Amino acid sequence: MLDNAKLFYQPVLDWHRKHGRSGLPWQQEISPYRVWVSEIMLQQTRVDTAIPYFLNFLQHFPTLATLAAATEDQVLHHWTGLGYYNRARNMRRAAQQVVEQHGGELPESFDDLIELPGIGRSTAGAILSISMAQRAVILDGNVKRVLARVHRLAGWPGSGEPLKQLWKLAEHYTPPDPPEHGALQTAGEYSQAMMDLGATLCTRHNPQCQLCPVSDNCQALQMNEVTLYPQPKPRKVLPVKEIQFLLLSNSDDEVLLDKRPPVGIWPGLWSLPELPLNNSVEDYCLERLGKSPLTVKAEKPFSHTFSHFKLMIHPVWVDVAESTKDIMEPNRSFWYNPTHSEKPAGLPAPVKKLLQKNFGKE
Ligand code: SF4
Repeated sequence: MLDNAKLFYQPVLDWHRKHGRSGLPWQQEISPYRVWVSEIMLQQTRVDTAIPYFLNFLQHFPTLATLAAATEDQVLHHWTGLGYYNRARNMRRAAQQVVEQHGGELPESFDDLIELPGIGRSTAGAILSISMAQRAVILDGNVKRVLARVHRLAGWPGSGEPLKQLWKLAEHYTPPDPPEHGALQTAGEYSQAMMDLGATLCTRHNPQCQLCPVSDNCQALQMNEVTLYPQPKPRKVLPVKEIQFLLLSNSDDEVLLDKRPPVGIWPGLWSLPELPLNNSVEDYCLERLGKSPLTVKAEKPFSHTFSHFKLMIHPVWVDVAESTKDIMEPNRSFWYNPTHSEKPAGLPAPVKKLLQKNFGKE
């Protein structure tokens, strides 16, 4: 660790003033709410992908109060495709908590912020430093990568001792705020600078070390070991589960969607009916619809990976013709027209993919 933190943060700030990104949507009209939304979206999503979702989300939920007042289905609908839906659910719950307990404004204290669902230490640090001009520390994936390389940090930086070490480094290098006499920098600017450095120069593959403001102090570069850091998560073999996804379609070009239970995978999202791999589709239709299907056609299977298992999905098109509307249970199942339906529907990514492939739109 560089004892004099300024030797680290000053070149980063100088570089950022010249080369940092300043046109990202969440860098305009900065507010705690906008920073919060962007930080949550960027947790598992690349900047390019997040931008249209951010703009659309802000258009539909322009304030924290509008997010708090929305239904879960509405919020999930505008999150569809981003994945990790608990992020959206937590944001809505946190917004409701902020309205109830903090008068509708995100709290200015770190301890209050991390009490809110889905807001961890780094997200709180970003909100406080970027939108509230407080000295607060961030450690997102980009910052972890930079610090792990600069210090050749051993071990996977996602938990345990390596993570503890990274927080120590991040804390040490964050500049004072308010800034030292005569200086321009703030911790918020440093937060943005470190995120930019990780996202644009110290990238996972092919980092541009020749342009990097901290290259003189980068131990991984000096040892020619940049690609070895950060060290990967120890691999484990994921179990595989196989299911059939039934695309039950009626004569109005609608497909049947079921609301998933509140626990388990994709909680509360609208998904296709599922059937264990070896179960008969005919028997399923007889039991659920009271009639045999007109046609049954299996499509090529594909996989979707969760953190703890791999789901092998076998899509099956089932033409069930007409007279099937009476099976609907309010709030549990409905016939969805992917090209015309206005009903908001948060869809798991594989379901969205299947509907897009077959209807051109989810
Ligand atoms: S010198 Fe290269 S590896 Fe080291 S921090 Fe800079 S970009 Fe990353």
